[in-house]
Amino acid sequence: MNIDQLLREQFGFDSFRPGQRETIESILSGHNTLSMLPTGTGKSLCYQLPAYLLQGAVIVVSPLLSLMQDQTEQLKRRGEKRVIALNSFLQYEEKNAALANLNRYKFIFLSPEMLQIPQVIQALRQLQVSLFVVDEAHCISQWGYDFRPDYRLLGNVRNELGSPLTLALTATATEKVRNDILNGLQLHTVKEWVFSVNRPNIAVHVEKLQDQMDKQARLIELVSFFQKPGIVYFSGRRAAEEAVHHLKQAGVERTAFYHGGMDAGDRLLIQHQFLTGELDVVCATSAFGMGINKENVRFVIHYHMPPQMESYLQEIGRAGRDGNPSAAVLLYVPGDEKLHEFIAEMEFPDDGQIRQMTEHGIAARDVQPPLSETQTRFAVHYKQEAERKNINPFRYISQKREYLLERKAIKRKEIVMWLSAE
Ligand code: ADP
Ligand code: MG
Repeated sequence: MNIDQLLREQFGFDSFRPGQRETIESILSGHNTLSMLPTGTGKSLCYQLPAYLLQGAVIVVSPLLSLMQDQTEQLKRRGEKRVIALNSFLQYEEKNAALANLNRYKFIFLSPEMLQIPQVIQALRQLQVSLFVVDEAHCISQWGYDFRPDYRLLGNVRNELGSPLTLALTATATEKVRNDILNGLQLHTVKEWVFSVNRPNIAVHVEKLQDQMDKQARLIELVSFFQKPGIVYFSGRRAAEEAVHHLKQAGVERTAFYHGGMDAGDRLLIQHQFLTGELDVVCATSAFGMGINKENVRFVIHYHMPPQMESYLQEIGRAGRDGNPSAAVLLYVPGDEKLHEFIAEMEFPDDGQIRQMTEHGIAARDVQPPLSETQTRFAVHYKQEAERKNINPFRYISQKREYLLERKAIKRKEIVMWLSAE
C-alpha cells in the first residue's frame, strides 16, 4: 500500500498537511529525520503512518504523561490495539507484564525516566525497533524553553538500542536548539524539514517594549503610520475598548471595537463596516476573525500575545490575502505571558471547590466561592465521567485539570520561545 492510500484508509484523511509527506518519505527512505512543524500540524502522523510500512516496533519518547495519553487514546480510537505507554502510572505488576510481552506492541510510548531503568532498556534491546521517535525534541536542549535533563541521555539510549532509524519532532526550534538536538541524539546525518511560519508577503516582527505605557504609545504610532485597513488583537474586552478611545483621541477616527461581550447585532454591524471599508481599524479580541474574508488587510497588530502559536498564525494570516505587502507586529513586554497563565488557571475550579462537589456532595451551583460557567461545565463533566468509570472523582477531576493546564503551558512556552528567537 502506498502512503496516500494508507492516509485515507487507515487514518481517514484526504491529504497530507505541509511537511507530513516530506517527513514520512524521508523516514521511509531510511534517513534520520528532524522535522519542525507547527503545533497542530499533525506531527504524530509522521511516525504513526510509517509504522504500518516498517517491520518492528516504533518507540516514542514523550516528555509529558498528558501527551502520551493523547497519543495512545488516539491510536486506540482508530482501532490500533498494539499500543502501550510505559510511564510512572503503571503499577509494578502491570509494568512487569508489559515488559515481558513487549514484542506484542507496535507502538511503545515511554517517558524519558523509564529509559533510565536497566530492565526497560534490556527489554527494548530484545525488540526489532523500526523507528525511534523523540517527540518534543527541543527538550534536549539547554537553550530550549523546556529543558529536561532526562532527555540529554537519549543519545546513549539510542546507542544502546543499536542506533535505530530516528525521527526527532518539535514545533519550534532555533538553530542552536536544532544543533543541540542533532548532537544530543548523536545524529550525524539527518534530513531536516523546517516549515517557516511566514507567508512571504507578510513581514512578521516582534517589538519588545519596556512597559505597558510604552506599548500603548507604540500602538498609536504604528496604527497612525501604517497603511489601513488593519486589525489589532487584544486578550480582553476592556483593553480593546480603551484602545479605541486612545486611537480616536490620536486622530484615528474610523475605528471600533469588537468582542464577544457585544450583542450579535452590533457585532454584525462592525463586521459589515470593516468589510465595506467604512472602518479602518478594528480593535478586537480573538472573537473577531471567523468568517472575515477581507482581502486587503494591511496589518495585524497583537497588543497582547495569543495563548498559543496556532492562534497567532491564524490571526496574522488574516493580513495580506491579496498577496500585497502587509505587516504583522507583536508588541511584547517581558512578562506578558503571565497573563495567559492566569487566564488558564481561572478556567478551572480549585481543589477546594472540587472537594465540595465530590466529597461533600454540594451541588455545583452552591459551591463557594461560586464557580463560573466554564468551571461548572468542566467539573460536572468530569465528575460524571469519574462516576461512570467508578474512580475517585476528586482525584480524577484534579488530574484532568493538571493535564489541561500542562498542555496550555506547553503551548504558551512555544510562543515565548518563538518570541525570544526573533
Ligand atoms: P502536533 O503534534 O503537530 O501538535 P498532532 O499530531 O497532535 O499535532 O495532530 C493534531 C491534529 O491534526 C490531530 O487531531 C490529528 O488527527 C490531525 N491531523 C493530523 N494529520 C492530518 C491530516 N493530514 N489531515 C487532517 N487532520 C490531520
Ligand atoms: Mg505533538
